[in-house]
Amino acid sequence: MNPARRLSVVAARCIGCRACATVCPAGLIVLTEADRRRTVRFAATCSEECDRCAAACPTGAIGLNGTGTGTETVLEFTLVACAQCGAPLAPAEMLAHLRATIPDRMQTDAQGQEWLTLCPTCRQRLEARRLGAGVAHLAAPARQVAFPS
Ligand code: SF4
Ligand code: SF4
Repeated sequence: MNPARRLSVVAARCIGCRACATVCPAGLIVLTEADRRRTVRFAATCSEECDRCAAACPTGAIGLNGTGTGTETVLEFTLVACAQCGAPLAPAEMLAHLRATIPDRMQTDAQGQEWLTLCPTCRQRLEARRLGAGVAHLAAPARQVAFPS
């Protein structure tokens, strides 16, 4: 067992994106969602030989700096609703970060739809509808072509 390092989180930098919770192999960062709120709970210390959370964090909010007991950090975020179906989508802070960092031309598709406002299910449905419309002509009866005899 390695000496415990203090897991410090700069709350003002955290956007609640959950990247750290996804990559943590030890379950020391736990994310839960209920009532349109996302909670990220960070353990006070970490004794693992690892720095995945710090490496994955897009905003540099996590530090593994020094020893000490520290205290558990709990951050809460309100989830913005999907513009199509109203399902909980993502923290406003995370969407603001994406808008600020993704090039403008990649935030909308060819039809001008802003992808960031849609949940994964609505994105898939929209793509499926467009794909269906795009190939509908293939299902139309073939035209009779008269060849000279
Ligand atoms: S350093 Fe690794 S094990 Fe420790 S909290 Fe971060 S991701 Fe989890
Ligand atoms: S990866 Fe960084 S910004 Fe995302 S939830 Fe973890 S600490 Fe916050």
